[in-house]
Amino acid sequence: MTDVVVIGAGISGLVCARELLRKGLSVTILEASDRVGGRTFSVSSDSGSRVDLGGQWVAVEGQQPHIRQLMRELGLEVHPQHYQGQRVLDLQSREAPLHYNSDIPSGIGVGGLVAVQCAIWWCAIRARLSVGPAASCDRNGKLARFDAQSAAVLEKMVGNSGKGATKGLVAAMVRGVFGCEPQELSWLHMLHYAACAGGVERLLKIKGGFQEFTIVGGAQQVSELLAKEVTSLGGNGSSESGC
Ligand SMILES: Cc1cc2nc3c(=O)[nH]c(=O)nc-3n(C[C@H](O)[C@H](O)[C@H](O)COP(=O)(O)OP(=O)(O)OC[C@H]3O[C@@H](n4cnc5c(N)ncnc54)[C@H](O)[C@@H]3O)c2cc1C
Repeated sequence: MTDVVVIGAGISGLVCARELLRKGLSVTILEASDRVGGRTFSVSSDSGSRVDLGGQWVAVEGQQPHIRQLMRELGLEVHPQHYQGQRVLDLQSREAPLHYNSDIPSGIGVGGLVAVQCAIWWCAIRARLSVGPAASCDRNGKLARFDAQSAAVLEKMVGNSGKGATKGLVAAMVRGVFGCEPQELSWLHMLHYAACAGGVERLLKIKGGFQEFTIVGGAQQVSELLAKEVTSLGGNGSSESGC
């Protein structure tokens, strides 16, 4: 008999299992995959260093307090994300990707850039007013309405006011942050995510944003080290593959 069954050996499941074990409960973790880490996945490159294929970046101290605290507990360190040199932006609406050297993508036009910046501000304000900490409960069914829409709302807004490339920039933004197409992403989820991050721009930025550091040795180590702790505290694990 086990007191608690935890489903999933990603960071959340393993932290949960560790807390329960520390409180003296017996825990069994069921994991569908043959590895721990879930959406963090670090693989070894030919040179021997580990490369992250899933979640990898952490923000400066204070902006992601929970993961930063966990990393301190596990003895994990960060190194700054390298971002000097030429930038490449593939909007998938042109034959060749854009190459540029400043922070501002070239080849989109001033009008297009203004449209995207306005869309980012509009999205940030909406996020703060509608689903941020200042928002009260679901007034006038607003959240339900947002829940029924996709992030293509933003793409449509920019697409109507700018050129095709501008629309492509919004799609690239969504792909980069969420790993999916705007029409696959809940508008409510995007607003909630932006509100939690303190604005859309923080999600996109490297310096002062959420892509400023990576974890030395790969992000999957968070789960690997947690799994070791869970095992040493007496937790049981079982995976679909029988490992
Ligand atoms: C491409 C990509 C890039 C990302 N980049 C970043 C980033 O740079 N910075 C950042 O902070 N975050 C990033 N994230 C998000 C971050 O990786 C996740 O928020 C985090 O890993 C979620 O951890 P979790 O434990 O909550 O869920 P998961 O990691 O999804 O873990 C869930 C686990 O449960 C298992 N599971 C699910 N259902 C069952 C079931 N029925 N039975 C048994 N097992 C089950 C899954 O196999 C999985 O192992 C990124 C995500 C992706 C995909």
